[in-house]
Order: sequence, then C-alpha cells, then structure tokens
Amino acid sequence: KAEETMEMKYSELAELDKKHFFHPTTSFKQQQAQGPKFIFTEGKGIYLKDVRGKTVIDGLSSLWNVNIGHGREELGIAAMKQMKQLAFSSTFATNSHERVIELAEKVAKMAPGDLNMTFFTSGGSEANDTAFKTVRHYWQLKGKTAKKKIITRNKSYHGVSMGASSATGLPAFRAFPSLAPDFLYVDSSIEDLERLIAEEGADTIAAFVSEPVQGSGGVNPPPEDYFKKIRALCDRHDILFIADEVITGFGRTGTTFGMNNYDTVPDIMVIAKGITSGYAPLGGMVISEKLKNELIELSDGVFMHGYTYSGHPMCCAVALENLRIIEDEKLIENVQNMGDEFQKGFKWLADKHDVISDTRGIGLLGAVEIMKDKETKTRFDEPVSVKVIEEALNHGLLGRSIIYEGQDTLAFAPPFCINKEEVETVISIIDKSMTTVLNQLK
Ligand code: PLP
Repeated sequence: KAEETMEMKYSELAELDKKHFFHPTTSFKQQQAQGPKFIFTEGKGIYLKDVRGKTVIDGLSSLWNVNIGHGREELGIAAMKQMKQLAFSSTFATNSHERVIELAEKVAKMAPGDLNMTFFTSGGSEANDTAFKTVRHYWQLKGKTAKKKIITRNKSYHGVSMGASSATGLPAFRAFPSLAPDFLYVDSSIEDLERLIAEEGADTIAAFVSEPVQGSGGVNPPPEDYFKKIRALCDRHDILFIADEVITGFGRTGTTFGMNNYDTVPDIMVIAKGITSGYAPLGGMVISEKLKNELIELSDGVFMHGYTYSGHPMCCAVALENLRIIEDEKLIENVQNMGDEFQKGFKWLADKHDVISDTRGIGLLGAVEIMKDKETKTRFDEPVSVKVIEEALNHGLLGRSIIYEGQDTLAFAPPFCINKEEVETVISIIDKSMTTVLNQLK
C-alpha cells in the first residue's frame, strides 16, 4: 500500500516535471521519454532518499558540491537567523553588511599567499566571468588595451555563462553560436602554451585560467611541476594566472585549496560550490593584494560590474557556518584520511579489472578510466562507463560517467563526512557493477 502511494506520488510529479521543468544539461528527448530518474526528497550525510523510498549514496556530492554532506541543520538555522535579522541588503557602491565582511575576511584568512579581497557572485560561472572581465579591465587601466585574450586548457570546465562556456575546453559546451571572443585553447603541456604565447604575442594575452585538477573534463591532475612552470611563464610574459578552484576549493583535495598541493599562488582564485557545500548559491573571485592595490591606484571611475546577489546576506551566513563546520570537525583531515582509502580502493579495482587503464585523483576526488585493451589503447565501441554508472545505481550508488573527447571514465567525489566503511561500500559497488557490465559484454 505504502509502495503504491509512493509510486503514485512519483508518477504525478514526473508528469509535471516533463510538462513544466526545463532541466539544465539534459537531453530534451530523454527527459520526455524517461522522466526523472529520481525525485529526491531528503538527504542525510552521504545519503539521498527519493520519493519512491529508495536510498542512494551521493557518490559525487551531488555536483561535487555538498562537501559537508546532507542534512546539517546548523546551516538551516544560520540561514533562518540571518533572514529574520536581515534578509537582504545591497552591496553595490559603498553599501555593506556584517556577514559579507565576515566572510570576505574568513576567505582571506583561508586563501594562500596574498589573495585577500573577494568579489561575491551566485556561483562559479558568474565568478569566472567576473575574473575574465576583471583581468581585461585591469590591462585596459594599465594602457595595454591589446591584452584581451584568455588562454584556457583543453578538457577544462569553467561553467556555462557566455564567458565561462567560451573558456571551457570541452567543445560540447561550446556548441552554441556566437560565444564570447578572444578565448584560446591549449593542451596541458608547457611547450604548447609557450608556442601559443609566441604565436599570439604576450602583449595580446590577458590571462591564463586553469582548474588545479580538472573536474568535469575527467578528473585530470596536472603534469608534474606544471603549475610552478605556469606561474613562472605567466610572470615572464606579464600574463595573469587565474585558478578556478570551484571544485577543489575548501578541502576537496585534502588541502584547503587545490593550488596548495602545487605550492603555487595564482593572481586570482575563483571559488563557489564548497564555500556553502551547496546549501545556498554562492561563488566569488578572490584577488591578490598586489592586484587590489593596482586596481585602486589605476582606476578612475566605477567598476561597472555587480550582481544583485553579490554577497547575499543569507548565503554569506550559510557559508560562514559551513566553513566553521569544516574547521571544527576537522573535515579536511578526514578528506586526507578517507582520500587515501578511496584512492587505494581505485588502485585495487585497477588490479582486479583488466579494462581499467588508469586511475586518477587526489583526496576525495577520483576517477577510473576504462579501455577495451589498454595495451593497444583501444576503446569499447560504446562507452562502458555509462552502463557501469547505471548498474551502480541499482546497487544504490550515484556517480558520473564522463565520455567527452572519447573518454570512458567513472568519476566519484563523495562528501567529506564519509567514513571507512562507507568508502569500502562505494568501492565494492563499483567493483560489482563493473563485473556485471563486463560479463554482459562478453
Ligand atoms: N568551474 C568549475 C571548475 C566547475 O566545476 C564548475 C561547475 O561544475 C563551474 C566553474 C561553474 O560553476 P556554476 O555551475 O556554479 O556556475
């Protein structure tokens, strides 16, 4: 009886979903044919529960963002307290409020080097666009008006606003006419970047942007010493270095920021996701003290860029509470410890399954690459990762399959609160699912 009721509730909602909800990043045809796979109603820790009563492990922390895990009431209380006290006030021009000041100070304390001043946005795409506009504005103020181009890496993901999608090195996201001009794409080798700078001329290049570890493009850690060399190259050519820490920021890789792993301080850091663990939409651009001082000195008018929700009080209050929890509960230490278990689990999977050609990752960010024959680097005709992810769902694990650019990758990034037993469950579900799918292919 209870099951019937749940099924009815699902059907009603699924019909309405198909009728009225324009899903992000979705195939229209698939949505209409299948309806929503899950309609989630509750979350607790690493688990999500749906309207039909099924519980699944949120193996990607939803969109690599629910870092502290689901169901933390403290964040709701912080949001309510702030809404009761001051739901909204503008931060345009010289207006300010307590929470945004406290959060900007907190971010400056956490950020490496002299990254000290934050511009807030509602998410990562807006934050990237803000960074791109800021670097171009900066060079304009310095009288170097030709320095407009932004260099970005192939397989990078920076979001979907006009600037951010133009900066994204996955062509699938750029399949729209008339995106933003002056973005250039390079492979992940220093030589390729040097060649491009020489061809284009450093006097036309404003900035280089990169994720510390590429996320949506397949979980790709950088080549050895990559960022140290990038930093030196950028300095040599007067090119600003933007690190997109949207996934890696606030602990995902076992250090506060991804760039800490590579002892490199960018000129600008882009943040979002983990700053609120997804409990409220918030992002930002953090700039260095040097850049800040130059902007103050050179600017002769108003910086004509700001979002209504730049520094939204409730989002800032939620971020402060989220960062308090990450610190008080030593969650970044847990990312290190559980990250070791998680990465070990991937290596164990690779030993067991011949078709795993590579395992990649750092902290609680990891991926498994699949090939039909790793010796000859032959792929399966159809991506196997899609089927493995589907099968894993049958065993109660949500993950992502990444098939851009001919890849066949399984990606996982569980919440920071995961424990050893839960890591083992995740690995054993991947193992079982791979076995099932590979047997079907025989
Ligand atoms: N940058 C990176 C590295 C991301 O992974 C994402 C989102 O996945 C973004 C930017 C875009 O952020 P948002 O979706 O909040 O606009």
